[in-house]
Amino acid sequence: MTGRTHDLAAFTTITYIIATHTVPPMTLATAITAFAGAMIGGLMPDIDDATSDFWDKIPAGTFFGKLLNPLLGHHRMISHSLIGMGIAGYALFLLFESMKHILLVDLHVVWWVTMIGFASHLIMDSLTREGIPLLFPLPVRFGFPPIKLLRTRTGSAVEHAVIFPSLIAANIYLLYVYYPAFLAFIGSIKR
Ligand SMILES: [Zn+2]
Repeated sequence: MTGRTHDLAAFTTITYIIATHTVPPMTLATAITAFAGAMIGGLMPDIDDATSDFWDKIPAGTFFGKLLNPLLGHHRMISHSLIGMGIAGYALFLLFESMKHILLVDLHVVWWVTMIGFASHLIMDSLTREGIPLLFPLPVRFGFPPIKLLRTRTGSAVEHAVIFPSLIAANIYLLYVYYPAFLAFIGSIKR
């Protein structure tokens, strides 16, 4: 999937959670940081691709991406697996632990939302032909639907004409049906 689709998928996941779950009250600063976390998390698994949108968004990113590439293997290896998600989650936890006295935001919330963005990336990539090595290092790739030919290619017409618009439609649907939940969430945000 393209970076644009991953951004929208992470956004949609957040919309879904606000619609259907009781979100803990948080400050505006936490909500904004968590939102940024979701977007970064949604691109994070492509850390193994020096040309990805993840690195484009970071200063000198392509350079660092190329440095990391030999460590992470080919595109869509460990960073698109459960182990990769665990390592990223632990690294993020350590990073947030070191920042918790500097930043006045609830990093517990930010951590969860970033990891939810990460998971949304894996779900979206599993819809593509290549699938994802969820159980890395086991050399099995998973995808949905299980028949490879029924899955889409990154940047294909199906992604642009079906998947992307479906995600937009899902957001509109959730906002319409669960409107009171969104109002309650916005109302619960503290200054
Ligand atoms: Zn990916």
